[in-house]
Amino acid sequence: MAGYTEAVCRLCRREGVKIFLKGDRCFTDKCAFERRSYPPGQHGQGRGKVSEYALQLREKQKVKRMYGLLEGQFNNLFKKAERTKGVTGEVMISLLERRLDNVVYRLGLANSRREARVLVAHGLLTVNGKKVDIPSYRVKADDVIAVAENKKKVAKFTDSLKAVDRRGVPEWLFLEKDSFKGKVLREPIRSDVTFPIEEHLIVELYSK
Ligand code: SF4
Repeated sequence: MAGYTEAVCRLCRREGVKIFLKGDRCFTDKCAFERRSYPPGQHGQGRGKVSEYALQLREKQKVKRMYGLLEGQFNNLFKKAERTKGVTGEVMISLLERRLDNVVYRLGLANSRREARVLVAHGLLTVNGKKVDIPSYRVKADDVIAVAENKKKVAKFTDSLKAVDRRGVPEWLFLEKDSFKGKVLREPIRSDVTFPIEEHLIVELYSK
C-alpha cells in the first residue's frame, strides 16, 4: 500500500501541531512533539517569517498527512468538494471525515487512521453487512460499520476499543462497543471536527 515513509513523528514536528499518527503513544509523554515541538533538521529552531503561500501549503500538508492521503488523492478529494453544493472548505472536511478508514478510527476500532487503513485494506470490516476493503470508501447516514463476524477475536480491536473512552466518539457516530460495530447517525458537519484546521487557507491555495 502506498504511504508515507518519513518517520511519522517528524511530520507533526514539521507541521507544528500534533496530528496524532501513532495511536496511544500520542497521548503519552513519549510523544516526540511534546518533547521537541520545533521543526526537525539543523535549522528547525530558527524559522523566519513565513509567506502567505507557505502558510497555505503547510495547512494543506497538515490536513493531508493527518488523514493519510497522498497528493493525488487529496487533489481529487478537493475537486470533489468544489463540485459539491456547499462551502468548499467545509465540504472538504466532511468528505475527509466520511472516509471509511477515518470512521473506523473515530469509532475506536483502530488506534490511528494508519492502522484503520490497514485493517480495512485487509478486509476486516464490513459496511451494512458486506465486506468493504477500500479505505477511501465514503460512508453515508444510516450505514453500519462492523468488524467482520469471523474477525471479532482479533485482539487489536479489543485493545483499540479500550482507548476510545479517552478520545471519545464524535456525535455523528454511534458505537456499540460490545458488538464491535458503529452506525453513522448523520453526515459530519464542520463543527464536529474540533481539531484546529484553517480550511480557508487550503481553499485559497487551490484558487491560485
Ligand atoms: Fe505526532 Fe503522535 Fe508522534 Fe506525538 S506521538 S509526534 S502526536 S505522531
